[in-house]
Amino acid sequence: MGIIYTTKSWNPETGCSPVSPGCAHCWAKRQGARHHQAWGSVICHDERLEIPLHRRQPETYAVSFMGDLFHPDVPDAFLEQVFLTMFDAHWHTFLLLTKRPERLAEWRKWVHPYIGVGDGGHIAEPRWPKNIWLGVSVENQHYAEIRLPLLAQIPAAKLWLSAEPLLGPLNLRTIRLPDGAGSTYDALRGTRLTVFPQGGSTGAAGLGRLSLIVVGGESGPGARPFNPDWARDIQQQTWPSKEIGCAFYMKQMGTDYVRQRLRTWRDAGRKGRPAGLDIKGENWEAWRESEDDLRVRQWPTGEAAAPFGRPPVDHL
Ligand code: SF4
Repeated sequence: MGIIYTTKSWNPETGCSPVSPGCAHCWAKRQGARHHQAWGSVICHDERLEIPLHRRQPETYAVSFMGDLFHPDVPDAFLEQVFLTMFDAHWHTFLLLTKRPERLAEWRKWVHPYIGVGDGGHIAEPRWPKNIWLGVSVENQHYAEIRLPLLAQIPAAKLWLSAEPLLGPLNLRTIRLPDGAGSTYDALRGTRLTVFPQGGSTGAAGLGRLSLIVVGGESGPGARPFNPDWARDIQQQTWPSKEIGCAFYMKQMGTDYVRQRLRTWRDAGRKGRPAGLDIKGENWEAWRESEDDLRVRQWPTGEAAAPFGRPPVDHL
C-alpha cells in the first residue's frame, strides 16, 4: 500500500510472500524493486531497531509496510525487540498491519517480558501498549471473515482495517463466524451474535471493534477495478460514526479509476488530463463530482492528525 495517513515509515523487517488475492500486485514488492532491495525473502534488520527512539518529534509510524511483520519467518525474539522499541518510544503512535492474524494470538510472547512485571515485582497480566494500533488487511468478504474475528480477540489499544486493495463489497456488521451455526460478529460494534444449533440465539459484547477503516482501490500496473460504491457502502455502515466510533478514511480510488477518468475525459474531446489527477487517484480534487460524498478522511478521536499538506482530516 501507499502511505498517506502516517507521517513516517519504519521497516525493521522487509520482504514477504503472497498469502491471498490481495497480494497479486503487491505494492511492497514494487517498492522493493524500485529501490533495488531484495524482497522475496524476509529480512530482519537489527540495525534499524532503534530508529524511532532517536526521533523526538511525535510521529505516526507505518511499521514494516514493506513486508508483513507477522510473517512466519520473523522470529519471536525479533518481534520482541520491535515491540520493546515501540513500548519505549511511547511518544510515537505505531500502526501495525498484517494479512496473517493467526499469529497474533501469541502476542504475550512479545509483550510479556517487559510489561508483565507488576509494582511489587510480581508477574502481572501483560497489557498491550497504548501507542500501538493493530490492523489487518482485507480485500473481500471472504478474507474479512477469516481475519477480522482473529483480530477482534487481541486487546490492542486500537484495532483497524485496511481495505486496500478492495476487490469487492464488505459487510462489516455481519461477519460470519466459522461455527457452522450462523453466528456472526459485528466488527463496528464489537458484538457477537451466537446462534445455537438447537435454535435460538444470544448477543454479547466483549470482542474488539474497529476504530479506523482505510479504504483504497488498487494501484500500479494491472490494477483491478474498484467500485466507489463498495467504499460508499462501508462508509454508510460506519454511520453515524460518532455513535459507532469508527473513523472512515478514503485513501485512494486506484489506478483503474484513473484510467477510466482519463478515457471519459478524452472521449469528451478534451486534451491533457483533469487537474491534479495522480496515478493512484489519491488527490480527491481530481475525482468525479459524483464522488463528492467520498471526500472523507477521518481519524480516531484524540489522536494525532494525518500528515500536514493533505486534505483536512476530521477527528471523531
Ligand atoms: S502480505 Fe502484504 S507485503 Fe506480503 S505479499 Fe501480500 S500484499 Fe505484499
